[in-house]
Amino acid sequence: MDTKEKSILDSVIYSYSTSSSQTNEENRILKETVNKLKEELDRFKVAPLMVCEVRNVFGKEAIIRLPNGNQFYVNVSQECGKVRSGDVVLADQKNLTIIKKIPITRKFDIENFVIVEKPKVSWESVGGLDMQVREIQEVVELPLKKPELFEKVGITPPKGILLYGKPGTGKTLLAKAVASSTNSTFIQVVASELVQKFIGEGAKMVKEIFELARRKAPAIIFIDELDALAAKRIEIGTSGEREVNRTFMQLLAEIDGFKPLDNVKVIGATNRKDILDPAVIRPGRLDRLIHIPIPKSEARLEILKIHTGHMNLGKDIDLSSLSSMMEDLSGAEIKAVCTEAGYFAIRENRTKVINNDFLKAIDKVMKEEEAEGQDYMNMFG
Ligand code: ATP
Repeated sequence: MDTKEKSILDSVIYSYSTSSSQTNEENRILKETVNKLKEELDRFKVAPLMVCEVRNVFGKEAIIRLPNGNQFYVNVSQECGKVRSGDVVLADQKNLTIIKKIPITRKFDIENFVIVEKPKVSWESVGGLDMQVREIQEVVELPLKKPELFEKVGITPPKGILLYGKPGTGKTLLAKAVASSTNSTFIQVVASELVQKFIGEGAKMVKEIFELARRKAPAIIFIDELDALAAKRIEIGTSGEREVNRTFMQLLAEIDGFKPLDNVKVIGATNRKDILDPAVIRPGRLDRLIHIPIPKSEARLEILKIHTGHMNLGKDIDLSSLSSMMEDLSGAEIKAVCTEAGYFAIRENRTKVINNDFLKAIDKVMKEEEAEGQDYMNMFG
């Protein structure tokens, strides 16, 4: 073989060996991808496990509680290791055998579930409720601001109050105003949510809400739609009813458990005082009942003045004659009239709101109110 032939042969061998190592590399990558996909496929085939809480352990058996509140007596699998009551575990969906313990603590941040704020609502933004404001100032504001006064006189202020009246009459507004005037943390809880969203957890949530209030004191716990939790029950049959009752009992225990001058006050609100369980308004609990009525003529004018305060009004507007046309409207509806009137002006490319805008807005809100009233009658007779 001459030198030229040898060099050609060398280059052929070189190019063959590089292409074979490239093929090997490609092969390896493809194998790895296939394995990964197989693993992924296997993972999709695995049936999901149920997350539950261990209540009691008896050797290799245990009582677990499912998220819907039902409890079962089940086996603990060998691989699971030692379980204790309070542990969060995974159980097979069919036979509920405990398969695995998971490192979740039952402690969660209650602040993610309730509204916690420091509201800025002045007493001046509440219209037509002078008597109610005075009463709330006496029974909630004064004990939070000057607890020593009550100790010196030797009387105990109420732990909480109940605001009752039709929707949109300003109950939340009043509660926020008193939180604001006492620089308190305002913790807003909607009782119906407590019952529906946190099935099996309601009582625990109530406990944590009160703990949070104590940590953030001075604090006001505002429980809206209290009737969802504290309605009279003739018989407690279903597990759902038992659950609501447990949550309600916890609420009573928490109210009983703190001292009247503990810097925490509870304000309950309801549109259905008639169905409340008397236990919640017994002395020492929410024993001051304050009716928040639908505003009468003067009150309506005051509320209208508050909500038109920042509006660009035309000269033709006569607030008192407008307010006389708004009979039976709540504070929230009077506010809605102002917003609607603003919209009528915007639709006609005006920045000034004129009397006719208000007339159209009153008509619109009145019609909506009538329709809602009809729905309410259909629901509650
Ligand atoms: P619900 O029973 O539906 O919870 P509510 O009684 O708590 O209603 P609010 O949420 O306080 O009513 O009222 C809604 C809005 O209506 C308030 O933010 C406020 O702007 C206005 N409003 C209601 N009542 C008054 C009032 N007396 N003075 C001024 N504004 C009011």
